[in-house]
Amino acid sequence: MIIVMEKTSDCATLETYLTEKGYEVHSLEGGDEILLHLIGDTTALEIQSLSSYEGVRKIVRTKAPYRYVNKPRTSGPFLIGERRLDDMLPLYIAGPCSVESKEQILHIAEKVKEAGAHALRGGAFKPRSSPHSFQGLHKEGLQHLKSAAKAHGLLSISEIVDKEDLPLFEDTVDIIQIGARNMQNFSLLKALGKSSKPVLLKRGFANTVEEWLLSAEYLMMHGNDKIILCERGIRTFEPSSRHTLDLGGMLAAKQTTHLPVIVDPSHAAGDYRLVEGLSKASIAAGADGLMIEVHDKPFQALSDGAQSLKPKRFAKLIRSLKAFEEHN
Ligand code: PEP
Ligand code: MN
Repeated sequence: MIIVMEKTSDCATLETYLTEKGYEVHSLEGGDEILLHLIGDTTALEIQSLSSYEGVRKIVRTKAPYRYVNKPRTSGPFLIGERRLDDMLPLYIAGPCSVESKEQILHIAEKVKEAGAHALRGGAFKPRSSPHSFQGLHKEGLQHLKSAAKAHGLLSISEIVDKEDLPLFEDTVDIIQIGARNMQNFSLLKALGKSSKPVLLKRGFANTVEEWLLSAEYLMMHGNDKIILCERGIRTFEPSSRHTLDLGGMLAAKQTTHLPVIVDPSHAAGDYRLVEGLSKASIAAGADGLMIEVHDKPFQALSDGAQSLKPKRFAKLIRSLKAFEEHN
């Protein structure tokens, strides 16, 4: 880290403070400034506070603010249940936004399995903007998801919204999803950090890539390195899609971390007509997989029908993605 200071400021006091904190500090004088070069682990240093020291002009981080997510994986193969993630790439996760009934999820499971999906999604605890909207079938929904996934040899994934429900999720699903709205729910992150279940961490729609990776850092710091990152669109000024899919952000995340990064084009698009193009673009760009909402009767869906693909269309999409996988 480099601290740029005015030559007339009291650098010595700051230097002593930093040396006492354990940093090696080198100073360089030139023109009307003094540069302090800090050597050591600066991830825990409060830049905001330091910048209030009189005479500090600028502070530049020369290293990433991570200790874990930017290091290579060391703990052996990434297993989801008994399956190796590496053998499934690109990972295709599909299913309805919400588990609506036992029959619905069983039927969709059959269709997405036939199409080539690896994992079945289905929300049981829904974080809806309106309290009047369908909130999910809760425990019963997770049981239906579990049996539908099992019946068709699929992995299962569902979103957790409350850390109290962790034992229930650990019993019922193979991957636990942290949704966009909870990306910075730090007590949830810490609790899932202690779990042995893989976590799919969605990017918050108003969060930077760095904040997203720092949330993954929480999980890793607490012991869980089985993390799949998921870009799902961010909020911008552009209303032609529900959110704006940030493929540049997906690539930036992939360049910074060894963690797999997948894309959810459904929540980004908000419209099923855009899902195919965004999926192709994501896979061509190098995403490690996709999470796609599929519903057999989208117009009757209890959530997110507008962005859900019908099973036939999903199957066609998976077939057409092969050509893009090869370029990946
Ligand atoms: C979902 O996957 O159904 C969902 C609510 O996604 P997000 O958290 O990305 O909005
Ligand atoms: Mn949804």
